[in-house]
Amino acid sequence: MVKAWKGAGEYPLIPLRGMLVFPSTIVPLEVGRQRSVSALDEAMSQDRFVVLATQRETRVDEPGPGDIFPMGTIAEIKQMARLPGGNLRAVVEGIGRCEILEYTAMDPHIRVTVREFPESLEHDAEIEALVRTVKEQYEKIVKMSKKVPAEALIAVSSVQEPGKLADTVGAQMALKLEDKQALLHETSIRARLERVLEFINREIDLMELEKRISGRVKKQIERTQKEFYLREQMKAIQKELGDKDDKGGEVAEFRQKIQEANLPAEIEEKALKEVDRLEKMPPMAAEAVVVRTYLEWIVALPWNVETEDRLDINEAERILNEDHYGLDKVKERVLEYLAVRQLVKSMKGPILCLVGPPGVGKTSLAKSVARALGRKFARISLGGVRDEAEIRGHRRTYVGALPGRILHGMRQAGSKNPVFLMDEIDKLTSDFRGDPAAALLEVLDPEQNLAFSDHYLEMPFDLSKVMFITTANSTHNIPKALLDRMETIFLPGYTEEEKIHIGRLFLLPKQMKEHGLAGANLEVSDNAIKEISRRYTREAGVRNLERELATICRKVAKELVKGETEAVRVNKTNLTRYLGIPRYRYGTAEKKDEIGIATGVAVTDTGGDLMPIEVTLMMGKGNLMLTGKLGDVMKESAQAAFSYVRSRAHDLGVDEGFHEKYDVHIHVPEGAIPKDGPSAGIAIASALASALTGIPVRHDVAMTGEVTLRGRVLPVGGVKEKTLAVFRAGIRTMILPEDNRKDLDEVARNVTRRMRFILVDHMDEVLRVAMLRPGFNEGRQSRDCFPIPEPATGCLPMADQTGP
Ligand code: ADP
Repeated sequence: MVKAWKGAGEYPLIPLRGMLVFPSTIVPLEVGRQRSVSALDEAMSQDRFVVLATQRETRVDEPGPGDIFPMGTIAEIKQMARLPGGNLRAVVEGIGRCEILEYTAMDPHIRVTVREFPESLEHDAEIEALVRTVKEQYEKIVKMSKKVPAEALIAVSSVQEPGKLADTVGAQMALKLEDKQALLHETSIRARLERVLEFINREIDLMELEKRISGRVKKQIERTQKEFYLREQMKAIQKELGDKDDKGGEVAEFRQKIQEANLPAEIEEKALKEVDRLEKMPPMAAEAVVVRTYLEWIVALPWNVETEDRLDINEAERILNEDHYGLDKVKERVLEYLAVRQLVKSMKGPILCLVGPPGVGKTSLAKSVARALGRKFARISLGGVRDEAEIRGHRRTYVGALPGRILHGMRQAGSKNPVFLMDEIDKLTSDFRGDPAAALLEVLDPEQNLAFSDHYLEMPFDLSKVMFITTANSTHNIPKALLDRMETIFLPGYTEEEKIHIGRLFLLPKQMKEHGLAGANLEVSDNAIKEISRRYTREAGVRNLERELATICRKVAKELVKGETEAVRVNKTNLTRYLGIPRYRYGTAEKKDEIGIATGVAVTDTGGDLMPIEVTLMMGKGNLMLTGKLGDVMKESAQAAFSYVRSRAHDLGVDEGFHEKYDVHIHVPEGAIPKDGPSAGIAIASALASALTGIPVRHDVAMTGEVTLRGRVLPVGGVKEKTLAVFRAGIRTMILPEDNRKDLDEVARNVTRRMRFILVDHMDEVLRVAMLRPGFNEGRQSRDCFPIPEPATGCLPMADQTGP
């Protein structure tokens, strides 16, 4: 028999874990704890009423009064069943809110006295509106959520009573336990509805947010999937096309190479950053190509690779001598460097500049230095370099940018301390694109080249261990600042004896080896070599000599292979058989003394050479003609010589008005070759004087020197080259300015010993030596071989009183 709930009384209590039963809801319960089972049993045996109250902490197994919320629900047991294992299952219906007043027993189950909790029920339009809104909003939730069953909506919409509505919705929604408990505690129905509405709205907001997020995630996934798909497709296409581009492998390879290259820390960091960039790029992107080239450069450069120097001086000396004859100065300098290097552990590389005409062995000597030091060798040519970027590279933003020649050389060398040859440093030019010399300054400055910056690399590269050797044909065109930084060593060229030596001991064996000839096959006599250097080549160095010897080797090889002969001996007489008729007259010395011709000397690209000067007089009106492709300085020098001769006409015994009756033509033969410089002054003046006086100039005297209007003779450059040229040409007397005396020290002793130098201050002395009165000169001292009045400086009318 069921009794009605009277609003107060003493009842058994079941503590609930993690759930709450609202009034006017029907809920299934499963009960396992001993006390709860006992409580249910008792309720069943009595009036079926039981108090359901929620535990504060779900973990507590045997809760006391303090562990249970003081507000609960009085419920009626609708059904009960025993489950196997002793548990009970019951279906209960909440009837009303109740407040726990007192715990009357704890065993065998909890008993409490309770009383109904008063609700304030006001009916007005606002409640009405709240009810409607709650229903509408709840409907929205049901529609939006796939989790709430449609029946829940029916249950809610059928409820009319406002308080009950709030409870039903609260029970249906998945609220936090505290929120549910708060709803249970709410006595004001208006407040309870408002609270429920707040929960509903919060839920709607959350659901909308969820929807937005999941939409975004979905889009993202779709995009990645699409990209993945396209990439896979691209790979398949590349594979079909046979492009073996597996970027993963490439990137890993770069990483490994960078690790192995033992780079300085900051370089390694930068390189790895570039690898990361490369990894993110599609393999075919133009940018990827740029990064790849850049990385290849970084791993290829010898950042930390250093070869060990051969410190055995004697061995180094042996190697240097093995490769080259003579050239003692350079060899000595290299050995000195080695010696100091042994005493000082870390030492900056020296910067040598080898200056001399072509073919004197500058390049091959540098190679030999590398061999002697046990270093790698790199070579670049600076001829025609006019752009700073050729030295320092282009910035990476340029299409096809690469590092400059310096780093190319370093890469080629493969170590950071090579012997680095820079050929033709005197052939640098500069224009609007920047000055390459300025960039070279940085390379060659020991203070700066520790951190040489290349535009492409954008990282400092250490050049301080490099041994730089530069070469030039002359120092005139080397920018001053560059010249200052280098140690200049002159290689002026070889004498005939030296050439014979070099030919016999170095060039011929080398060429024979290259042509596969053994010593038994070919022999070339010293006389033949001398003949080659005299009549087949005209040079200060030995490059053409080597070429001619190669020609002989070639021809002999042919004869041998054809079986025409077994061994050949080349001498002066059969030389034409191999080399054809001689190309040059030996020397260009005139054969006999002539009027109006004087022998000057010039410095040329190939060393020095004789430069005959011709002067002819023609009836005319005093015009001065200059031909032979003369430069401005040389023209002026010719005019000065002319004026000097005019001013001395009286002393020379020449008609003082000659310049009004004659045209004077000065010509310097071999007209196609440009000539310049003031050093032909005394030769021009001599030729003129000779033409005017009719006294011949000695053909066996060569001369060089600048002349002033007053006849003073000024010093000139290139004495070494000129002396060798004169000697080569077979002339043994040479007139030189007194001020050039010191330069003779630098000319090989075996040349100076066999020549006679006449050092002069004044043109009068030149004329005295160079011009001869027939039958008057032989076997006499130079000082009195005279056509002109006795000298006594100062007594001549227009002698040098003021000086230039
Ligand atoms: P450069 O660089 O001065 O123009 P090279 O170095 O090209 O001249 O020399 C030309 C050739 O002459 C090379 O084969 C070189 O070995 C040879 N040569 C030059 N000087 C000597 C020397 N003193 N001893 C041996 N060979 C030499």
